[in-house]
Amino acid sequence: QVSSDPIRDVQKEVREWARDKKLEIDALKSQEKYRREFLSNISHEFKTPLFAIQGYLDALQEGLIEEDPQLANKFLSKAANNLDRLSYLIKDIDEISKLESGELSINFQQFDLYTLINEVIESLELKAKKHKIKLYFNDKPKIHSMVNADREKIRQVLANLLSNSVKYGRENGTTEITLFELHDQILIEISDNGIGIDEENLPRIFERFFRTEKSRARDIGGSGLGLSIVKHILEAHQQTISVQSKEGEGSTFSFTLEKK
Ligand code: ADP
Repeated sequence: QVSSDPIRDVQKEVREWARDKKLEIDALKSQEKYRREFLSNISHEFKTPLFAIQGYLDALQEGLIEEDPQLANKFLSKAANNLDRLSYLIKDIDEISKLESGELSINFQQFDLYTLINEVIESLELKAKKHKIKLYFNDKPKIHSMVNADREKIRQVLANLLSNSVKYGRENGTTEITLFELHDQILIEISDNGIGIDEENLPRIFERFFRTEKSRARDIGGSGLGLSIVKHILEAHQQTISVQSKEGEGSTFSFTLEKK
């Protein structure tokens, strides 16, 4: 179609250019905001364990070892726990920055979910025992369980979800893993009867660094990055995750994978 008004055409072009520029600037601004928030969160998350370690070591240096060897021992192990927390934090930050920058590629392959789930359960058995939680894989009836996904990344998804169900479980609680066969997907459900998440916080648990007050107060190691890593990995697979939870009763996380 030939236009009859060149001035109007130019105006339209300028308007479009201005709109595109504004979109570009908005995107940059939100990236910048994101970067600032990320850095401020990181430094905050580092401070807590670092100050704790400093405190314990100061006390030890000031003669606690001679004065109260038992307490000194306790402080040493607390310092070690906080060091652990720092190293997990660094590992998670490394992981999430790779995921968010798109640096990490997904290597699709066909594998059997049954085997992987059993492997992950085995790797967490000791931790589960320590927290008095039973990890139960409800693998009957047997269903089609071959999927097309990145095996190592899905291992991490399973490990993060199962380890949360152990961390936030109740004594003598159970975590149940069940698979459901859908039309062209497998649905994986991980259900615990632990402390649960209140309604207000539930929409936020996939955010970076978000931890409920309750889990912070529980003195359980965690970076608040586990679930956002899980979400990123599943999004990179074009799959989804959802959660249902009731405070004091438990939580159920469900995600899908492509059936093969
Ligand atoms: P982290 O466990 O390191 O704190 P996550 O990103 O894995 O971080 O989880 C974010 C928060 O969501 C946790 O701090 C906890 O408050 C809540 N949460 C996650 N999984 C569960 C669960 N199974 N039961 C209760 N709360 C949970």
